[in-house]
Amino acid sequence: MAVDHGVVLSSRDSVALEEIRVEQPGPGEVLVRIDATGVCHSDLHVIEEDGWHHPYPVLLGHEGAGTIESIGADVTALAAGDRVVLGWKTACGDCVMCARGEPRRCKRPPAAPGRLFRGDGSELTPVLRTGTFATHTVVPQVAAVKIPAGLPAEQACLIGCAVATGVMSVLETAQVWAGARVAVIGCGAVGLSVIQGARIAGASQIRAIDLDEQRLEQARRFGATDVGEGPVDFAFDVVGRQATFELGLSLLASGGTLTLIGLSPAGETASVELPRLFSKRARILVSHGGDHLPAEDFPKLARWALDGKLDLAGMVTRLAPLDAWREALDTVGAGDVVRTVLTP
Ligand SMILES: [Zn+2]
Ligand SMILES: [Zn+2]
Repeated sequence: MAVDHGVVLSSRDSVALEEIRVEQPGPGEVLVRIDATGVCHSDLHVIEEDGWHHPYPVLLGHEGAGTIESIGADVTALAAGDRVVLGWKTACGDCVMCARGEPRRCKRPPAAPGRLFRGDGSELTPVLRTGTFATHTVVPQVAAVKIPAGLPAEQACLIGCAVATGVMSVLETAQVWAGARVAVIGCGAVGLSVIQGARIAGASQIRAIDLDEQRLEQARRFGATDVGEGPVDFAFDVVGRQATFELGLSLLASGGTLTLIGLSPAGETASVELPRLFSKRARILVSHGGDHLPAEDFPKLARWALDGKLDLAGMVTRLAPLDAWREALDTVGAGDVVRTVLTP
């Protein structure tokens, strides 16, 4: 087998593409060749937030699509050659949340430890149990969800994080109703997915809010009907800063719902005027990846993409080889980049 490579955060602020060792999958696990991986803001968050709870060394990347190359013992639903999207928000099946029938709130997604190593033999921690900035990775079978043949990997990978997070924040977390007025603060890949979700939900008005003109233009292409502030039934803070959170709250009409999606830097705070919150009967929700469940949601999102209901192709603004990872990370957040997709 050819030598494997991966983008490794070996210690604080130290990132490099290096040779890695990928072991064969154990019971209930699958070995996946990564065909495409989106470069998500959360990977930058892992670097900037000192590993973001992942023990060093860390294998970056968590928005991947690929092909199953081999399966471990007890894997029955997947076979070599299957095309899959990797999911980071799977359910364990036996925690308190899972036991009470809420797998979407599971906080203990299964992992496949002890399969990925650096050249020096130290064990890698794959970001969000996936590790997709690599030629191969190993994940639990539940984290590999089959996708239809017609969907190219470079589009399919976006379902694994940005699209599942954005669309499901609308449909699952906030449960936007047909005819609702929606505002989206922050129009990167997740924000554009929120806009698409709002369009699918039948929102009557979709306001895009972003400091970048290019992003507002993109937002219109994906379904935004207006740009700028105005009263809404649902506001989505895709940024997660004090200013955006407080702006989102201020936009809510009576009975409105603010949903926090964006990851905030450590220590970030925001203030809430309680009498105003009370008189508005406002609700504040946290969307953890849109509360998506890969096994249920990925096939549906893939079908919508094939049906033309969900525009994935338009979100892939750059394709690059794995060794262009640094530039890809540097341009996360640039106005003209929705998603860079690396093809290892
Ligand atoms: Zn669970
Ligand atoms: Zn992500």
